[in-house]
Amino acid sequence: MTQEQTQQILEKAGVMQSGHFKLTSGKHSDRYMQCARLFETPEYSEAICKEIAERFKGEVDVVVGPALGGVIMAYEVARALNVRNIFAERQDGKMTLRRGFYVEKGARALIVEDVVTTGGSVKEVKALLEEMGVSVVGVGAVVDRSGGKADFGTRFEAAIAVDLATYEPDACPLCKAGLPIDKPGSRV
Ligand SMILES: [Zn+2]
Repeated sequence: MTQEQTQQILEKAGVMQSGHFKLTSGKHSDRYMQCARLFETPEYSEAICKEIAERFKGEVDVVVGPALGGVIMAYEVARALNVRNIFAERQDGKMTLRRGFYVEKGARALIVEDVVTTGGSVKEVKALLEEMGVSVVGVGAVVDRSGGKADFGTRFEAAIAVDLATYEPDACPLCKAGLPIDKPGSRV
């Protein structure tokens, strides 16, 4: 799949929205990302997760996603690879495997997360698995928003890397052009 095709799917799915948005940081942007929307449409999530899965074919025994963002993605990537999938979740602030989920020592794990910004949750899951003697073969994401800064000490594959241009409200070219602020999702 080309980057253009990936981008088209993410736009159709409502993951990448164009307009004039106020971000939670208070800054303005001409784009807004809502990665959860990808999993609203199975056809789109299957296509993107298959693309990521292909890059790790034959190298993975189990796919692990941190809750909440990685849960559905882990399932979809695991389905494409026909391997087991589990999720990690926080208990008393610490990332852990509950519900009888486990990974055997020596197994090869792929960690997936929908959006990687700082990659904090992924790093915690990696540390947790490595403590168990699991080999983390890589990290997969739908969107890399780290600006190239994400470093997990293992292979990192994202379907797309996005650098959002953000502006202080008083320096926003969209405000200057008189465009009203959109509510995310209003144009999709
Ligand atoms: Zn603005």
